[in-house]
Amino acid sequence: MIIIDGSEGEGGGQVVRNSVALSLVTGQPFRIVNARGKRSKPGLMRQHVTAVEAALQIGGARCDGLFVGTSEIEFHPGRVTPGDYHFAVGTAGSTGLVLQTILLPLILAGGPSRVVLEGGTHNMLAPPFDFIDRCFLPVVHRMGPTVTARLVRHGFYPRGGGRIEVDIAPAPLRPIEATERGALRALSGEARFASLPFDIAAREIKAAQKTLGWDEGAIVVRQLPDEQGPGNILLLEAEYEHVTEIVSGFGKLGVSAESLAKTAAQRMAGYIESTAFAGPYLADQLLLPFALAGGGTFTSVKPSQHARTAADIITRFTGRITNFGERPGAPWLVDIR
Ligand code: AMP
Repeated sequence: MIIIDGSEGEGGGQVVRNSVALSLVTGQPFRIVNARGKRSKPGLMRQHVTAVEAALQIGGARCDGLFVGTSEIEFHPGRVTPGDYHFAVGTAGSTGLVLQTILLPLILAGGPSRVVLEGGTHNMLAPPFDFIDRCFLPVVHRMGPTVTARLVRHGFYPRGGGRIEVDIAPAPLRPIEATERGALRALSGEARFASLPFDIAAREIKAAQKTLGWDEGAIVVRQLPDEQGPGNILLLEAEYEHVTEIVSGFGKLGVSAESLAKTAAQRMAGYIESTAFAGPYLADQLLLPFALAGGGTFTSVKPSQHARTAADIITRFTGRITNFGERPGAPWLVDIR
């Protein structure tokens, strides 16, 4: 039995999600203690419980001690069965993070699946739908499988109510080298809002443009139907030949439109200036598919604690080692063997 201390390293929900995914793929049971031990409200929240429940359903698995607030669960995987699934987080909790838990097991399951997920689609501290669709999945496609995702309805915190649909055509994962971005194709952005004053989006665009100086009209306003709100997100996108990066600024009470836009724009400027393939979030999310492909290499901005923790969990389940190599004057080289 693999025992994970969920307070080690990054100490958040990703430790739980990666452990569950790896357990389903490798067939090894695990127990996690101190789950989300480094978060201000430790233990599993609704969205983490939904993620584990989704894994139980697709994986014919058994889990002891699963409830909202628990900090210890024991997970026994079964056989992953591809098929049609529908999971509702029940709160505004992130659909993207539930998908992160079950996607790789379904990709490797040997038959097509269709997954409908309801909850939040554009949450703070989680990959927004657009990031999954245009940053993460295209890299997975290069590795073999075809996964198509549709955003049916936006779901913002605190209301939720979003819906995404994902079709998975499995294929073995093949190792790839993702070291070059290729040529820049487009710089664009959207300030999306629902049931909030138009002015917020306009101010975000102005502030982002002040930092980025992109072409006039590169960042546009997109008004969503009122019933999908209230909600606001600024998405800044840099599309290269081989990779797309999306930086998000999440609108929230108490943070001005200018300040969230400036922070997002500075992050985007930092990514553009580096020559790395993966930004900080893509880097931690690529480790799982790369490890399950048997290895691979990508370049990255400075690896986050999330990435290092994901690498440790992967080693526990698969024995694969990730080397984070710092190179003067060049992006980090992340090598999984
Ligand atoms: P945790 O904090 O442990 O629940 O993990 C959060 C996960 O969400 C990690 O895989 C992050 O890469 C991902 N994530 C958080 N914020 C963003 C963002 N703005 N864009 C893309 N991915 C994100």
